[in-house]
Amino acid sequence: MYNDVKEVLLSEEQIADKVLELAQLISEDFAGKPLMVIGVLKGANVFVADLIRKISIPLELDFMAISSYGTSTQSSGIVKILKDLDKDIKGLHVLVVEDIIDTGLTLSYLTENLRSRGAAAIEICTLLDKPERRKAHIDVKYKGFNIPDEFVVGYGIDYAEKYRHLPFVGILKEEAYQ
Ligand code: 5GP
Ligand code: MG
Ligand code: MG
Repeated sequence: MYNDVKEVLLSEEQIADKVLELAQLISEDFAGKPLMVIGVLKGANVFVADLIRKISIPLELDFMAISSYGTSTQSSGIVKILKDLDKDIKGLHVLVVEDIIDTGLTLSYLTENLRSRGAAAIEICTLLDKPERRKAHIDVKYKGFNIPDEFVVGYGIDYAEKYRHLPFVGILKEEAYQ
């Protein structure tokens, strides 16, 4: 399994340090506000699970599952909601937690959709960002790491549903997806 990984980009320890740092910022910024954390399935599952356990203020957690049409390594921005939120977010301070922002098309669709539901505020927290590849403008308030334009897996992020359980973020060997 690890043989398919060309390079470890972010170690378990680097990720844990960053998760703590982000959680502390979020705890300060959202103090006193009704915080609704929305994890975007499936990729953000591992990140959101670690993040919420370091947040020291009250919060609620929900998930959305979306599928964006496109090839296996590129998204198109046309998004289908596979699992919606369980409750109304009107008046809540929403924190959308993502695994990785690439073109930004998926998140741009998602934030517009959430905005139309009357949330008091919507902020974005992503573990990874590939800023070079952006097509849609996104305001990312909480960002773990900028990464180069390489196809990564691990820490929740898959290729064809594999590699989500790797504890680090690594660059996949080209042969593993060709
Ligand atoms: P965007 O709409 O921002 O282009 O797409 C973001 C989504 O594309 C991510 O949530 C993820 O599912 C997928 N994606 C983008 N870059 C990578 C990558 O390097 N590795 C993997 N496994 N998925 C990626
Ligand atoms: Mg995602
Ligand atoms: Mg995926």
